[in-house]
Amino acid sequence: MHTPQESATTFRAPLTDRLGRTVRDLRLSVTDRCNLRCVYCMPAEGMPWLPKDHLLTYEELARLARVCVECGVTGIRLTGGEPTVRADLPVLVRLLADLAPGLDLALTTNGLKLPEMAVPLREAGLRRLNVSLDTLQRDRFHRLARRDRLDDVLRGLAAARDAGYAPIKVNAVLMRGHNDDEIVPLARWARDEGFELRFIEWMPLDFERRWDLSQLVPSDEVLARLGEAFALEPELDDDPSAPARTFRYRDGAGRVGVIASVTRPFCGTCDRIRLTADGQVRTCLFATTEYDIRQVLRSDASDDAVEALLRSAVLRKAPGHLIAQPGFVQPERGMSAIGG
Ligand code: SAM
Ligand code: SF4
Repeated sequence: MHTPQESATTFRAPLTDRLGRTVRDLRLSVTDRCNLRCVYCMPAEGMPWLPKDHLLTYEELARLARVCVECGVTGIRLTGGEPTVRADLPVLVRLLADLAPGLDLALTTNGLKLPEMAVPLREAGLRRLNVSLDTLQRDRFHRLARRDRLDDVLRGLAAARDAGYAPIKVNAVLMRGHNDDEIVPLARWARDEGFELRFIEWMPLDFERRWDLSQLVPSDEVLARLGEAFALEPELDDDPSAPARTFRYRDGAGRVGVIASVTRPFCGTCDRIRLTADGQVRTCLFATTEYDIRQVLRSDASDDAVEALLRSAVLRKAPGHLIAQPGFVQPERGMSAIGG
């Protein structure tokens, strides 16, 4: 198969940091806005939205992405905020899909808009979907997302399946006392529906700064509970730079995984770089430094200048985050403004 590395599009040196980690995965946030208000992410009201003219245009996003692909990036994930609330998202997907044959183009979404967007996004070149869903109980969904929209997410998932996305991954953030009693029910449901479920540890990236280690449900505990209910075996061909640890159901009914960002950080193999919707490059979710590429893109700077900024950011990438250790500083922006 024709991969981006082999194509004529790769002619710049890889973006490699001082520890030898090479950037292969670009996370593009396309908006900080959202149609839900999940308690672990956003406040109920009063979010300070980015000014519209600070948002990168689709052309600016595609130019930055092209330079990254020329530096060997092989995967791009669109996120936010809720990426599907940005107008004409398929237009961006098409611009990105045209950058390189074989580019792994993915989207993380809360699923609400998938009933009308699953097909146009796929036709535009989107390959993979992650849909977030933390509970199967309607009242609880309403409390956690502060909107009564569980049925719409389920409709979105059905539309994604009908549109032919496979596999569809479902992300669930667990919080002690809120939904940790749903580990097995969520896993059973996802298994039956043919979705690949991944449990994510709650990270200190909420706007309200309510994160508390005692409310985090460690992935080892999740695996222990899953192990009591199902026969599982570790997936041996996991990509070492992928954050999820995945397990196969022994009866062949698919896979389930955990993302232990806090209790077992995977910083040593991180291959990611992030761009906020207002054009700030970040080398980590927890970085406290941002690099202003909007200014470069909006000047008459060359692509080489864009590459130079990316390269100097990557060279300064920290070895790892210090969550729950002395010296940890929560970034000023929350997850929805950085791009999860
Ligand atoms: N709105 C989309 C969604 O919810 O899928 C995309 C953006 S959201 C920020 C991306 C992912 O981050 C979601 O799976 C969400 O559950 C997760 N997330 C948000 N805040 C988080 C936090 N503080 N800790 C861990 N995961 C978080
Ligand atoms: Fe919105 Fe996603 Fe944050 Fe929930 S997690 S408030 S859906 S950005």
